[in-house]
Amino acid sequence: MTSTFSLSGRRIMVTGANTGIGQGIAVAAARAGASVLGIGRSSMDETAERVAAEGAQFTALSCDLADAAVARSMFDQAWEHGPIDGLVNNAGIIRRADAVDFTEVDWDEVMDINLKTLFTLCQAFGRKLITGDRRGKIVNIASMLSFQGGIRVASYTASKHGVLGITRLLACEWAAKGINVNAVAPGYIETNNTEALRNDPERSAAILGRIPAARWGRPEDIGDAAVFLLAPASDYMHGAVIPVDGGWLAR
Ligand code: NAP
Repeated sequence: MTSTFSLSGRRIMVTGANTGIGQGIAVAAARAGASVLGIGRSSMDETAERVAAEGAQFTALSCDLADAAVARSMFDQAWEHGPIDGLVNNAGIIRRADAVDFTEVDWDEVMDINLKTLFTLCQAFGRKLITGDRRGKIVNIASMLSFQGGIRVASYTASKHGVLGITRLLACEWAAKGINVNAVAPGYIETNNTEALRNDPERSAAILGRIPAARWGRPEDIGDAAVFLLAPASDYMHGAVIPVDGGWLAR
């Protein structure tokens, strides 16, 4: 009998699959048996190699997710090559400045990628599934800043609170249609996103000192949580968020 944690035969789309958490999710999905469609604007050769090493198929699709309309048309084209069973909205950016100095550009760019494009891709996927009477899974990548305020990241905090809200709204609308919409909330993970924090000795020490697991997270820490939410094992989960944070929120 196939494990309910298996993604065998499933086609999973992961945005921002070239590096960091997206790469960790792509590799974990491949290990669970999925074929992976990686979406991004930078070379995904490294991810392709790591997925191939798991014995799985990887297809790279180039797309700048800053423009939601471009993202929608990319999704529709990807669907032409075969139905997609799971969508992981991982791509995201962060801008840091004091709230009094925060610029409109830094507000708009972050909201566009982290929230508008995320919703647009969910909508494009939902339309295909509902029209075709198919089941599917959406995993949105939230954050500790879906729950907390943080400092110097106004648009990021707003966008990640929004990610959690839209995850719950879509879960309510689509649960009865066979679509699971859930989220993973990573804690502090060693990726490009947190490079500035890790290079600031004071902030870095303060963050590390508050993590019960006493280490920063790694992209592979997130991968299997996403696989669980993509697999049949989580079929009765809707609108949930799984923190993978070394205990940060428990503190
Ligand atoms: P990362 O290494 O900076 O990865 C971000 C990914 O998003 C990259 O693949 C990046 O591509 C892609 N991306 C950004 N803008 C894009 C655009 N316009 N078009 C296409 N792709 C774009 O950081 P990460 O930590 O892995 O972040 C992944 C997700 O996890 C984000 O949603 C982030 O908010 C979330 N998260 C991270 C942490 C953490 O501690 N690291 C914690 C909580 C949540 P490029 O490489 O080409 O820029």
